[in-house]
Amino acid sequence: MEKKPFVTKEKLEEIAAKYPTPFHLYDEKGIRENARRMNQAFSWNKGFREYFAVKATPNPVLMKILKEEGCGVDCSSYTELMLSDACGFGGADIMFSSNDTPPEDFRLAKKLGAIINLDDLTHVEFLNEVAGIPETICCRYNPGGTFRTANGIMDNPGEAKYGMTYGQMAEAYRKLGQLGAKRFGIHAFLASNTQTEEYYPELARILFELAVKLRDKTGADIRFVNLSGGVGIPYTPDGEPVDILKVGEGVKEAFRRVLEPAGMGDVAVFTELGRFMLGPYGCLVTRAVHEKHTYKDYIGVDACAANLMRPAMYGAYHHITVMGKEDAPCDHKYDVTGGLCENNDKFAIDRMLPKIDKGDLLVLHDTGAHGFSMGYNYNGKLRSAEILLKEDGSFELIRRAETPEDYFATLDFLNLFG
Ligand SMILES: *Cc1c(COP(=O)(O)O)cnc(C)c1O
Repeated sequence: MEKKPFVTKEKLEEIAAKYPTPFHLYDEKGIRENARRMNQAFSWNKGFREYFAVKATPNPVLMKILKEEGCGVDCSSYTELMLSDACGFGGADIMFSSNDTPPEDFRLAKKLGAIINLDDLTHVEFLNEVAGIPETICCRYNPGGTFRTANGIMDNPGEAKYGMTYGQMAEAYRKLGQLGAKRFGIHAFLASNTQTEEYYPELARILFELAVKLRDKTGADIRFVNLSGGVGIPYTPDGEPVDILKVGEGVKEAFRRVLEPAGMGDVAVFTELGRFMLGPYGCLVTRAVHEKHTYKDYIGVDACAANLMRPAMYGAYHHITVMGKEDAPCDHKYDVTGGLCENNDKFAIDRMLPKIDKGDLLVLHDTGAHGFSMGYNYNGKLRSAEILLKEDGSFELIRRAETPEDYFATLDFLNLFG
């Protein structure tokens, strides 16, 4: 599928005149339409809820848009809980799916009434000591080995630090019951950025079968199964987006075959998607500022890996559109680089693009999730602004860019600058 930016060059120049590049731009219309499709895909399940994974894009304006579309939030840290609380999420609107969890995080989750998802059997005792056991509680499962569908291996849960074995799940349920838990959930995240309609249905089958087994073995009242994150998006132009309606149908099929015959037709299905909810509806907008020709041809832009880490960290592909040159032939081979003193600070390597001139606006696609949020301050680089392109075509600053004062804020007691 051809990748087209959700914004015109004229609009981008208008935005950039007010808020200088680089910035992350988000598409309200796309976000809302996708969230509605998501809810439609699972409308067959009475208790269905998507808990947006806050770590993907922790911006309060975007979180409130998702809240208006019926989503809850999935948090994994103290500050994510604080942010969710401030956005008006509370109680069962919040899943707390953390690991290696500090005591104060559990305390805040308990205080907010969040649904706590335990990553390990030892966390039963730990939670009991630091915050007490709530009546509704969830445990994270790891089946070990490799996770495969009919089309091959998807990932290696056996190598992942998350979750409990079957025996530990049963033991955790028993202990939690003794400590006062009354309602139980199951959670698992077995593969990331999956590109097929089969991931959730296969995961659902495994977790639904586990739910029946755990109920039979421990008598636990299982109220929900959380399929977590992992539904992917196509970053490359040749990929096809996952058809979420088909995914919903596949999960429904597993639900009908496994849970309903076991008398568990009232179990709610939860999801915790981040990438699928926002990934395609954000982009990083940057300007070409330098052009360099040595052993290769380089375009230096005003963004760097501090604004988008995925290419440097994973070698991830992010499609680039040179605005205004959409129909020009891609007859130049460039490395598109940022200014970090790290040779991996490259948004693209040997990428065929139209001839780029200084001043051109470049759009890096699909940065709406795990984009801005993975940013960092290496080399003293500052985090960019985030801007929302609203449904009516107007735009709004939803996070200002960092200033040097922000960067030095943690040294304020030294009074370095007088
Ligand atoms: C990161 C994460 C998610 C979201 O993952 P995506 O790949 O963005 O869908 C959901 N749940 C948990 C526990 C996570 O750690």
